[in-house]
Order: sequence, then C-alpha cells, then structure tokens
Amino acid sequence: MAEVIMNGVNASSNMCKDLTNRCEALREKGVVPCLAILRVGSKPEDISYERSAEKRCTSVGIEVKNIVFPDNACEQELISKICQLNADDTVHGVLILLPLPPSINERSVCEALSPEKDVDGISSGSMASVYLGSGPGYTPCTAQAVMELLKYYNIPIAGKHAVVVGRSLVVGRPVSMLLMGENASVTICHSKTENLADICRSAQIVVAAAGHINSITADCLSPGQTVVDVGINFDDKTQKTLGDVDFEAAEPIVYAISPVPRGVGSVTTSVLAAHVTEAAERSLIQGGF
Ligand code: NDP
Repeated sequence: MAEVIMNGVNASSNMCKDLTNRCEALREKGVVPCLAILRVGSKPEDISYERSAEKRCTSVGIEVKNIVFPDNACEQELISKICQLNADDTVHGVLILLPLPPSINERSVCEALSPEKDVDGISSGSMASVYLGSGPGYTPCTAQAVMELLKYYNIPIAGKHAVVVGRSLVVGRPVSMLLMGENASVTICHSKTENLADICRSAQIVVAAAGHINSITADCLSPGQTVVDVGINFDDKTQKTLGDVDFEAAEPIVYAISPVPRGVGSVTTSVLAAHVTEAAERSLIQGGF
C-alpha cells in the first residue's frame, strides 16, 4: 500500500488560506483582484472548467468576469477583446479556454495576450519565462499544480530522476522545466519512446500526462516511487473520470501517488487564483501605491 495518497484538495485548501489573506490585503488598498475568463462556444468541458475556476477564485476574494463568444466568432473579434482586456487596469488576469474552434488561429490569439495578464502561461512570453526561470509571464497552471502537490507532500526533488510522460506545451514540457529548476534529472517520454516501462521504473518521480487511461501500468512502476497522475480521461465503460495511471495496480507498489479525481486537478484552479493574486499585487507595485 502507498504510504502517501497525495490529496489535491488538502494541498489546495492550504494554498487558499494564504490567497484569501492576500486578496483581503489588496482590497484594503483599493485593488479588487479580477480574472476575465474568455470562452468561445459552449463545450461542456469548457463550461465545467470555467465554473470550477470561478468558484475557486471567488472563494478567495477574486472577482470574475465571464466573456462568452459564439462558436462562429472570428479571430479578429477575439484579438480586439484581448487587446481591450490588456489595456483594462481593473482586470489583472485573463484565462482563455483552449482549444479554440479549428477555424481560429489559436497561436495568434494566444500571442495577443500580454504576458503580464497571461495567468495560464499560453503566450510565448510566458513560455520564455518558464524556460528562463524568470520574466513577466506565468507558468501553465497544471504544470505548477504538479509542483505544488510535490511540495505540499514534502517529496524530495533535488538530485532525483524524474520521468515525465508527455511533451505538450501545456503540461509535459513546462513541468519538465520546473522539475529541472528544482534540480531533478529529467527524462521526457512521448508516444514514440521505446522501452517506456523500463525508463519509468528507473525513476524516483513519475509524472503521467499522456492523456490515455492506463498509459502507466504496474510494469512501469517500482517500490519507493512517487507517481503524479495529471490525466483527466472520461471512461465511457464505467462513466467515471480516470487518470493515466492504473491506480489499483500502482497503489500497492509505490511510496506516494495522486488520485484522479481529487489530485492534480484540484490544485490547478488554486494555482490559477494564485497567479491572479500575484498579477494584482504586481499591478499595485507598478502603480506606485
Ligand atoms: P496532449 O494530448 O496534448 O499530449 C499528450 C502527450 O502524451 C503527447 O506528448 C504524446 O506524445 C504523449 N503520449 C500519448 N500517448 C502516449 C503513450 N502511450 N506513451 C507515452 N506518451 C504518450 O495532452 P495534454 O498534455 O494537454 O494533457 C495530458 C493529460 O492531462 C490529459 O489527460 C488531459 O486531460 C490532462 N490535463 C489535466 C489537467 C489538470 O488540471 N489536471 C489540465 C490539462 C490537461 P506525442 O507528443 O508523441 O504525441
């Protein structure tokens, strides 16, 4: 049996206490931290994420503005809205729900967002900050949520071998950079990796972000490991949300494991709230208050 089940709800509540105090301090100084959420269309998964982001943000004292465009919105309309939000001093962060409809050039829309307000790290300015280790942008929330979970459960990272399964810009690559920033030796795996099981077994930390149920099975795991499951996959058979890791098989083998649900996903919206709070604090400093 795993000694530690890394519960994201606990890590998240711990973060929220601090955020509530910081938002209160900002309000006392006349700054109301504010997040604008921009959604195109009405995909159920977007609406569901928007609701949980809104719930988390309002719970710590962040105001949320919901901006909804129809499915057939054009790229220029979105870009001019983003430019408006960039210039609006009462909005500190902007969350654009991705992916956008295929008719829209998503990269152009992401690049329109000023890194100072890019609280989910989608612009190349933010990505550069992740790679440089500093700068005006923010880390993608899910990637940082993995780090918050490891930190909350005191999992040693420095000097350890971490294997990240997945190389997307949203999760795999940024989490690899963050782990390396904490002095882990990182191996990035993907769909063309040979001997995935052998590579995973050799690691002390495994981060699963492949986007498929049971991508990580018992043969990928060894005793003493910490396994962070980023996957959120809907299983038609059981009608349940499952991760990428075969939890039942993994849990008896490893030292620590995050469940799905109530794992990384529960921390992601708190990281988002933390980024909005930080953006509001930075605006206060820049505003010379
Ligand atoms: P992508 O589909 O963009 O990327 C998946 C990555 O996994 C790709 O790099 C792909 O390789 C690799 N991969 C796919 N299959 C395998 C395999 N069998 N073995 C090894 N590598 C494989 O997904 P995302 O990064 O956006 O998301 C990953 C998962 O995390 C999803 O389940 C998603 O729902 C979840 N997620 C969770 C969030 C949270 O808050 N908890 C937020 C965002 C995402 P290649 O590059 O070669 O194609």
